[in-house]
Amino acid sequence: MGEGLLAAIATAVGTPVYVYDAEAIRARYGRLTRALQGVPHRIHYAVKANGNLAVLALLRSLGAGADIVSAGELARALAAGFSPRDVVFSGAGKTREELERAMRAGVGAVNVESPGELALLDELAGAAGRRTAVALRVNPDIAVDSHPYTRTGELGMKFGVSCEDVPALACAVGRSPWLDLVGLAAHIGSQILDPAPFRQAAQRLVALADALRRDGHEGLRILDLGGGLGIGYAGGEADLDVERYAEAVSGPVVEAGFQLALEPGRYLVGPAGVLLTRALYRKRSGSRRFVITDAGMTDLLRPSHYGAYHEVTLIAPDAARRPVEVVDVVGPACETGDFLALERALPAITEGDLLAVHGAGAYGFVMASNYNARLRPPEVMVDGERWAVVRERETYAGLLAGESPGRAARSEAE
Ligand SMILES: *Cc1c(COP(=O)(O)O)cnc(C)c1O
Repeated sequence: MGEGLLAAIATAVGTPVYVYDAEAIRARYGRLTRALQGVPHRIHYAVKANGNLAVLALLRSLGAGADIVSAGELARALAAGFSPRDVVFSGAGKTREELERAMRAGVGAVNVESPGELALLDELAGAAGRRTAVALRVNPDIAVDSHPYTRTGELGMKFGVSCEDVPALACAVGRSPWLDLVGLAAHIGSQILDPAPFRQAAQRLVALADALRRDGHEGLRILDLGGGLGIGYAGGEADLDVERYAEAVSGPVVEAGFQLALEPGRYLVGPAGVLLTRALYRKRSGSRRFVITDAGMTDLLRPSHYGAYHEVTLIAPDAARRPVEVVDVVGPACETGDFLALERALPAITEGDLLAVHGAGAYGFVMASNYNARLRPPEVMVDGERWAVVRERETYAGLLAGESPGRAARSEAE
């Protein structure tokens, strides 16, 4: 997306605003599917990374299925036109109501994460008289090198069931007249740049699945390796090499005669999005220089929550000629932890300047909040030279929708 186009969008729509590049999403999806050419596979896009309907519809049109973690994401996936058969339902804490909805919609598979969930699903499937496909989410106990909040595949974490519990759960599925065991699933974490732990996870799933097949679970065909494919956030940092990744995971899976399934989120959409924001004020405090922007942690939480690095650039014709200074780019929320970038060398920014925060297409808008009663930003999809607002900026009426002062506290005290 050219700077001229981004500046035009910021002027027309206002800031802060998320802008997504359809061409970039197509290119990334294409690269991943080319890397998996010849490998029987299925890609279920992880809706939680970016659930905008336009993003979902684009990925569906490219051939992706959807990986959801709530009934809300099911509603989004269906509204974007996904066939329920192409949806898999993940998540450690699915409620009865969510499982019922998913089953009634006819989702392709439920990735079950605990004995209690399995018993509940069995009960619901029986009551509805609906056969339901199940994959068991396994915790393969593999350590990965990513932020502690985004590691999920080690023992001692809330996700999946440990390997030694899998045979008993598989038997429970086998005994149910309503459940079919179609696969095993794992998701070892997020933002992983090294293919090696993915290969280990694949090997562990293959070993478990082979043993289950020998025990008579012949319907077990799919090994779902989850998402976690990392991207380069800092300038010059490379994405996970998807060709090496594809080789690492498909080798063991294909050799053993299973189908591969993946649930990438960040990889497909992260680099395709920017958050545009304007500098409101400059100030100094002690030895630090601050640029206060109209976007902050309520729009993009990753810097505050994960200490994540996002490239920030100044969009101005004379940006390259301005002197460089080191600044903290901070948001307007009443929190010291509200920042977009700390100690960043940037061309001298003046009030009113437009900034682009890069790599904001995944875990950006979806983590936005109304803290400080701030309106969540709009989202724009660019396709070549054309663009459209695909989600309006929230309104003050929308902010208050569904809420009322109730009986005044005063009358209750009387
Ligand atoms: C979060 C998540 C994903 C997607 O992770 P990315 O790092 O965005 O690829 C996939 N599967 C499951 C089960 C998840 O929880």
